[in-house]
Amino acid sequence: MQNKIHTAQSAFEHWKTISFENRALLLKRLKTVLEERRMHYAALMTQEMGKPITQSLAEIDKCGWLCEYYAEQAETFLQTQYISTEANESFVTYEPLGVLLGVMPWNFPFWQVFRFAVPAIMAGNTVLVKHASNVPKSAVGIESLFLESGFPLGIYQNLPISSDKVGELIAHPIIKAVSLTGSEQAGSSVAMQAGKYLKKSLLELGGSNAFIVCEDADLEKAVAIAVNARMQNAGQSCIAAKRFLVHETIFDIFVEKYKWAVSQLKTGDPMDPETQIGSLARVDLAEDLEKQVKQSVVMGAEVVLGGKRKEAFFEPTILTNVTPDMPVFKEETFGPVAALVSFKTLDEAIALSNQSDFGLGVSVFTTDIEQIKLHLHEFNEGAVFINDMVKSDPRLPFGGVKKSGYGRELAREGILEFVNCKTVVIR
Ligand code: NAP
Repeated sequence: MQNKIHTAQSAFEHWKTISFENRALLLKRLKTVLEERRMHYAALMTQEMGKPITQSLAEIDKCGWLCEYYAEQAETFLQTQYISTEANESFVTYEPLGVLLGVMPWNFPFWQVFRFAVPAIMAGNTVLVKHASNVPKSAVGIESLFLESGFPLGIYQNLPISSDKVGELIAHPIIKAVSLTGSEQAGSSVAMQAGKYLKKSLLELGGSNAFIVCEDADLEKAVAIAVNARMQNAGQSCIAAKRFLVHETIFDIFVEKYKWAVSQLKTGDPMDPETQIGSLARVDLAEDLEKQVKQSVVMGAEVVLGGKRKEAFFEPTILTNVTPDMPVFKEETFGPVAALVSFKTLDEAIALSNQSDFGLGVSVFTTDIEQIKLHLHEFNEGAVFINDMVKSDPRLPFGGVKKSGYGRELAREGILEFVNCKTVVIR
């Protein structure tokens, strides 16, 4: 571990002097290698955590898009900003911080890492990544991808360590900042350690997004998107819609249509391109989900579809009669379980949506877009998507409020997280 930290520091000394143009050339090369070996990397993810192969391929493609985006935009985002003051000259420059630590989850084994590492590296930093322990091959695969694409040794390094070593790393004087994507517990522990050593931290944590369907919504569209919003990646997504708030006048018809649409999802071998929903990444994750569902049922929730577990496979599940005190409403459900609740007024829907410890994003389906725009400030969220599911996009900042974390990834905001904004004043 010590060797890798020192390698990252020596690489940084050189890398920070490399022009944006040359950094971008390497990143574009990396995109080409990703495209050439698309199936290989996608299969790695599917074999390690069970994601259906079509979704793994889409994840690889999205990583390529991210590379292209920052290869083209990083220089513009980090251009010196001239600001007029009483001085002869005043401006702000953006300089890399040094060696950064990334602590990453298994649910999007490539995308989460890319989202952290690509802008950080384009800004001139070098990175060490401690990936989740259940995706070691993806972790090694990403490191070799950087090397194969021609990035000098030490720009991107994989650290195959256990999570109890993370504190020690944060304390190390060479490590300048840490970015964690993962659970609330891991986030809290990393933030505590970063706070102790006065280092910058960025946290992308859990979510329990609401998916609001107003009385005037295009129901067919809302149902189709609701399937993907909850069931993609077998529900193991921080920004998945987890709580479905549906206007009382269309509640029954929504339940009927949603149940039919979810029941059509194809399960099976995740390497089969026809498969739409696979097993969860680990048996213990499916067991946790089962406990949340069972406890909610004891408290009065009704199982409309699914509800059963077989080893790591959890049936796509729909629950009604859900109340805010139930685990499926107040906790994050990291699997294919949709909790449905009816509401009478928009104010009530907003209050229910906000009745969560998390604040990553919300979807609202309506034809009266102007009315929702008037209420945007009432949603305690990092994102509001109208007539669409919440999804990440390299061009838009991504991150949460409340227990969903702090800081932003992607877009200009993302690359500015790990730079020193240096103010220069010349009299
Ligand atoms: P996790 O258990 O917190 O693990 C995430 C990473 O943190 C892993 O590398 C893990 O290492 C490490 N870790 C765990 N405990 C730690 C600790 N006390 N100190 C330092 N590092 C620690 O989360 P997960 O199960 O992989 O991922 C699921 C969670 O991530 C969900 O809550 C999900 O919502 C959240 N998530 C959030 C976003 C977002 O963008 N907001 C995106 C994806 C996922 P080990 O694997 O070795 O334990």
